[in-house]
Formats: sequence, C-alpha cells, structure tokens
Amino acid sequence: MSTGRIVVVGGGAGGMLAAGEAARSGARVLLLEKMRHPGRKIGITGKGRCNLTNRAPLPEFIEHFGRNGRFLRQCFHRFFAPELMAMLRELDLDLVTERGGRVFPVSGRATDVVRTLRGWLKKNGVEIRACSPVQEICQDRGRVDAVVCGSDRIAARAVILATGGASYPATGSTGDGYPMAGRLGHRIVPVRPALVPLETAGDATVPLQGLRLRNIGVRLVVDARRRQRLFGELEFMAGGVTGPTILTLSGLAVDMLRQGRQVRLALDLKPALDERKLEARLLRDFERRGREPLAAVLRGLLPPQMVPVCLHLTGLPGGLAAGQVRSGQRKRLRTWLKDFRLEVTGHRPLAEAIVTAGGVDLGGVDPRTMQSRLVAGLFFAGEILDLQADTGGYNLQAAFSTGWLAGRSAAARLRE
Ligand SMILES: Cc1cc2nc3c(=O)[nH]c(=O)nc-3n(C[C@H](O)[C@H](O)[C@H](O)COP(=O)(O)OP(=O)(O)OC[C@H]3O[C@@H](n4cnc5c(N)ncnc54)[C@H](O)[C@@H]3O)c2cc1C
Repeated sequence: MSTGRIVVVGGGAGGMLAAGEAARSGARVLLLEKMRHPGRKIGITGKGRCNLTNRAPLPEFIEHFGRNGRFLRQCFHRFFAPELMAMLRELDLDLVTERGGRVFPVSGRATDVVRTLRGWLKKNGVEIRACSPVQEICQDRGRVDAVVCGSDRIAARAVILATGGASYPATGSTGDGYPMAGRLGHRIVPVRPALVPLETAGDATVPLQGLRLRNIGVRLVVDARRRQRLFGELEFMAGGVTGPTILTLSGLAVDMLRQGRQVRLALDLKPALDERKLEARLLRDFERRGREPLAAVLRGLLPPQMVPVCLHLTGLPGGLAAGQVRSGQRKRLRTWLKDFRLEVTGHRPLAEAIVTAGGVDLGGVDPRTMQSRLVAGLFFAGEILDLQADTGGYNLQAAFSTGWLAGRSAAARLRE
C-alpha cells in the first residue's frame, strides 16, 4: 500500500463507514470531525433508538428514495442491509427487526450503535481528530492534494467528503460541505427541508395539540388535485402536524409551497368505513343512543379531544339529542369524518428537518465508486449527496452504504 493518506471529512454515519472500510482495506486514514465526538447525529436517530436500516427488498427500498434512488443501485449491490447487519452483529451489536421491517439495536439505544462504530474505527487503526472543522479541499491539476483545517494544511491522496446535510445543526451538520464541493466545480441542487413537520392555518386544531391519531388516511391535495395518499399515524403539534404520514408527505408539500401552490391535507378519520358503511354506523349509533347528547355519542367515534373540534367545524350542536340529528346534519358529519381539511401554510425550518433534500448533484458523482467526475481523488458519502428517503431506516442505510463504497474505492485508488 502506498504511504499516501485518505482524509475523511465528517464523522457521521457516512464518514465513519468510509473511514473504517478504507482502513480495513489497508489505507492510512485520518478522520477529521468538527464536534468533540463523531456520530452525534446517529445518537439522536429513531427517537434515541436508531432505526439503522430496513429489511425491505432492494427494489422496494430504492423506491423510497424517489427519482434519485437508482443512483444507489450499484452501491447497494456491494453493501446493503444484510451486509450492514452482519457487520454490526460481528461487532457484538444485537439487532431486532420491528414492524415495517425497521431494524434497531436490541438494547433500544442509539448510543450503542455509535459506541460500536467508534470501537470498529479504533480496531482498524483510524486516526480520529475531533474538534477539527475543515474549511477547504485543495486540488492541484484536477486531483485533490490536501485539506485545510484551521491553520493546518493536511496532505491527502484522497478526500472523502461526508459532512452530512444542514438539519439539526447542533449535531454538527451545518452544511459546510456544500460550498466546499461547489468551489471544486460541483453543482449543488438547492437544499431544502425534507421529512419536516408542516404548519397549518387557523386555531381550530389548538385543542388537539399532542394528540396522536393512528390508522387514519392522509391525502395531500395541491390546487384541488389529490397528489399523494398514505395511511398511518399523524400527530398534532403547536401550529401544525407531524408524525410518519406527514413527514413522508412533507417533501412534496415543501416543493409545492415553494412554487406558490395551494397545499391542503385531507384527513380520513374512518378509512375502514366507506360512505355507505359510515352512514349505517351513524344511523345505528344515533338510534341506539337517541336520548343522549350528540357530543356523548361522538365520543364513541372519536378521541374525546376531537369532539369539540368536530362540533365547532361542522357547526353541529353538541347538546342535541342524537335521535334528533337530521339527515343533512349527518351528511355534514360524514363529510368531515372522511375529509377533515387542514390548510398547509408552511413548514418548520431546515434546522428541524430529519433530512436535507438537495445537495451535491448526482450527475457529478460516479455511482460505481462515489468518486467525483470532476476532481480525481475526491469522494462523497452520505446526506451531502442529493439523496433523501422516507422514514424507516432508509437514510442511514444510504449513508452507511455510500460511506462503505467511498472508503473501499478510495483505498483502491491509493493502491493504483
Ligand atoms: C432527529 C433525527 C432522527 C433521525 N432518525 C433516523 C432514523 O431513525 N433512521 C434513519 O435512517 N435516518 C434517520 N435520520 C437521518 C440520518 O440521521 C441522516 O440521514 C444520517 O445521519 C446522515 O449521515 P451523514 O454521515 O451523511 O451525516 P451526519 O450524520 O450529519 O454527519 C456529518 C458529520 O460531519 C461533521 N462535519 C460537518 N461539517 C464538518 C466540517 N467542516 N469539518 C469536519 N466535520 C464536519 C458533523 O459534525 C457530523 O458529525 C434522522 C435524522 C434526525 C435529525
């Protein structure tokens, strides 16, 4: 192996896999991390449990990345969920697969994943320099030759840029890599939040704050046209909504809002009942409990917090005896239960997004190696690339896989 060195910039999921794999392949590796420890963001993933990958078959997995997913095909053929899981198990990290194919450490602690990866880096002889923010990547005649870190110029035969996106900046991901790649000629697709809570108009939903609805249908309606429909969970928060369905729809919602389009959410609170069945259910309930006030009967149909909101938005009197509800009023209720509309006025900022959409344009990167097509010896890994997926472990797997491939390829380049 040549005496040249690989410098990995950023010690997140992508950077750690890149550094460890390059070192395992025999290269001398220096990992420069701006924070006091690598892996800060991994430590907060999956609500502290780290949903590190998903057991979905490859074609389905790739679909979760949308149009850009095919860029990952060759990378995933080399290092995918089974390889990642085997590697972590070999390092004594027990894993468990949960609903929807989501994989977590058995311990339920994301910090165990970080600890395992740090141990792996150490075992493979990676030199880690913490508190070392890189400002620049230097090139000479189309080849990388160094990075600038503070007042140091550190020589490098290859550089792997793995600085992540620009969300949750307290973890160290502040988007530093975009201008560095841009100055080397890479096109940067405008960055914007993905997997982000949405803000909604009006204060009718204020009493619902903190309420989590399971098994509901959520449609995203743009300029009166239905664009996407999902089933699952939604959570009301101050000034808006979040939860798995909303996060998944948010990428399209953000793009549509940016185009000045009208964006609405239509909630189907009774997705298991079509209009006919819902009418039969209402008739039955109202007949059986005819003397009771409508508000009390609605509590059998809705979470208690929702009843006043339902009455307010449909204009139905809660004190009315259920047996007195007229057919027109029932229709209003039915429509609301199947099509509860929320006007989307905005989204939470990039800093609060689970992932950053946009980034280094994939056209400038070789999907077989993760090497730049513009600057020899420059590689990319992780969220800095213009890749983003739904929730479910897909984003971390992409960071791990692109990291692994970049590390492998950079080490191979040193041997050339
Ligand atoms: C709250 C939250 C929960 C999430 N949960 C999940 C989940 O359960 N499953 C899932 O698949 N995905 C999840 N994600 C997304 C996932 O964490 C990211 O997609 C993934 O961590 C990206 O890895 P990365 O290595 O590219 O970037 P990061 O993990 O962001 O790492 C980048 C690293 O580079 C360092 N850095 C930045 N600039 C410099 C510089 N100039 N010099 C040196 N170092 C620098 C940073 O300090 C950081 O350590 C979650 C994200 C968030 C915010």
